[in-house]
Amino acid sequence: MGCFYGSGINDLLACMYDAAVRLGGVAAEWLTDNMSAIAAVGGDGRRARDLDRRVEKANFPYVKTLADFDWSFQPSIDRPVVEELASLGFLERRENVVLVGSPGVGKTHIAVALGVEAVRARKLTYFVDCQRLVGDLKRAAEKGALERRMRFYAHLSLLIVDEVGYLEVDKEGADLLFQLVSRRYERRSTIVTTNVGIGAWAKVFGDPVVASAIADRLCHHCTVLKITERSYRTKDLAPDRDAGSGA
Ligand code: ADP
Ligand code: MG
Repeated sequence: MGCFYGSGINDLLACMYDAAVRLGGVAAEWLTDNMSAIAAVGGDGRRARDLDRRVEKANFPYVKTLADFDWSFQPSIDRPVVEELASLGFLERRENVVLVGSPGVGKTHIAVALGVEAVRARKLTYFVDCQRLVGDLKRAAEKGALERRMRFYAHLSLLIVDEVGYLEVDKEGADLLFQLVSRRYERRSTIVTTNVGIGAWAKVFGDPVVASAIADRLCHHCTVLKITERSYRTKDLAPDRDAGSGA
């Protein structure tokens, strides 16, 4: 009995149906009754694989959603505001989000969760930490390929830049970041996580003029979320051992 299994669930179902007809009426009847349900399961599988592929391309460091977030641990976070962001109106309005807080308080988790929602909504999304982004743009500039790389970052519906402020950015890096932020300004949304208040970015970027130009564009249409509780990573340690924990 020759069967062609190569091209997906519908071919497989047709093949099974032929076989069932040959084997007996009851099996054929059952398959006919359940064909669309089986095909739907196949469709769900395809959609899930497609989503997995898109999530992978978004380059998240881990995949977590707001359903995984313990709101009671971080009462300083305005839950309705975050849930409103998860409905992605900010993407339509081309607004930004800045998450400010010390290490471990859930900045990246929330940024990733919003990114996952964007990916689910088929928005082109990319996660990158600030040092990698700067390094990538610098390498592109050295190779004479800056415009191409800038275009990649500029055209994303949602760019998540993680960990601004953990390491200082030199003048060339700050200028490149400024170019990127300017190109995305009022056209595409950006989420930034930072462990230092925006007022202290002059030190991060080494140049108060570039720092304020970046902050100015980023914060013009922006939701700023400040998280002030202690680190979730060290939640099981005694409170006096929590102080001074690393990133
Ligand atoms: P940071 O603020 O340094 O970016 P993360 O968001 O990466 O910290 O959080 C560190 C770890 O703790 C991650 O695994 C994250 O999922 C988890 N986490 C942080 N806050 C919460 C929370 N309120 N509920 C559940 N998990 C959390
Ligand atoms: Mg983080």
